[in-house]
Amino acid sequence: MPLLTIDQIDLKGKSVILRSDLNVPVKEGRIGDDGRIRASLPTLEKLLAAGAAVVVIAHLGRPKGERKPELSLQPVAHRLSELLGREVLFLPEVDAELPADFAQRGGVALLENIRFESAETSKEESERKELASRLSRFGDFYVGDGFGAVHRKHASVFELAQLLPHAAGYLVESEVKVLESLNGSPERPYAVVLGGAKVSDKIAVITNLIEKVDLLVIGGGMLFTFLAAQGKAVGKSLLESDQIETVNEIMARAAQRGVKVLLPVDVKVAPEFKDLEGRIVSIDAIGEDEMGLDIGPQSAAIYAKALSSARTVFWNGPMGVFEFSNFQEGTRAIATALTEIDGMTVVGGGDSAAAIRALGFKDEQFGYISTGGGASLEYLEGKDLPGLVALQ
Ligand code: ADP
Ligand code: MG
Repeated sequence: MPLLTIDQIDLKGKSVILRSDLNVPVKEGRIGDDGRIRASLPTLEKLLAAGAAVVVIAHLGRPKGERKPELSLQPVAHRLSELLGREVLFLPEVDAELPADFAQRGGVALLENIRFESAETSKEESERKELASRLSRFGDFYVGDGFGAVHRKHASVFELAQLLPHAAGYLVESEVKVLESLNGSPERPYAVVLGGAKVSDKIAVITNLIEKVDLLVIGGGMLFTFLAAQGKAVGKSLLESDQIETVNEIMARAAQRGVKVLLPVDVKVAPEFKDLEGRIVSIDAIGEDEMGLDIGPQSAAIYAKALSSARTVFWNGPMGVFEFSNFQEGTRAIATALTEIDGMTVVGGGDSAAAIRALGFKDEQFGYISTGGGASLEYLEGKDLPGLVALQ
């Protein structure tokens, strides 16, 4: 069923609850890459221009139901206000009151990190419903635009959407359009490049993707579980031993389907998780006291060459710890390869987008930059995403 979008709704005088994805990196109160805040502006500006008052709900990180000051959305409210060029009222808690004239003057407010409420992410539907109903007093219409969270069955994403008349915002609309085209009939060869840190999440996803792609390129923390599955020693690298069986199944299925899976031949390691100089080793020579923090240069060259003939590429997850200057080259090589491809390239994920910007690439060098990592992967798997189902 198609999504109803905000262009199809008369918004004048409405009090809108807008679920956005403002999950940006914040360190000591300072915002790093603000891409997700910027990506949420078109919908917000449209709602305000159409005469609606807006209360924005969003999350930051994983506070697990606790009020963690370092995960406050206060700095985000500040940046949002700068970008919008108008006052953004900050609501410190779910039971905070809006000023009496808020709706009438078309105000805009941002609620504190919704994940400070344990009910937001609760496994108990009744708890999520209860929180959703407390949130629903902030408006009479719901707009779902937090694409990065639509794969989560959370109170502000799923239950709240169902309590109110609703529509999808522009970001969700455009994300879905791009991913739909990848799921339809992508031009082949179709390659998926996976890296990053959330090992078990991503390995689970591959089981489905292996049925759709021609080439799978593996980097990031997850590559060590693949190496371990081949009996290699990975030292202190990220490893999820309980995923080894899944990895073996993936490799067997890939062989059966004729899908090429690329694993590194060399990696860059360091004795600890720090921005040290590191050393390049063959994948057979990772020391017991070393951890792999990037793919090596030979691997990067092999990956880049394999990707050069792809016509469609989806990339999620940096190849290494790009935050450390000594472990950026793998990610840089993949980014460069994507900019040279004659075809459709999609980069998904908060850190992946932040990485390419940090390395000096321009958004325009890629076909599309998706704000959602997990969400876009689950969409590509063909799963029903709760936050989209609720908007239909
Ligand atoms: P995205 O946000 O794009 O979906 P993830 O959140 O899954 O990506 O992963 C990003 C993180 O993965 C980065 O912070 C990066 O430092 C980390 N990472 C990449 N390679 C490794 C590695 N070998 N060991 C530990 N962390 C890694
Ligand atoms: Mg991330």
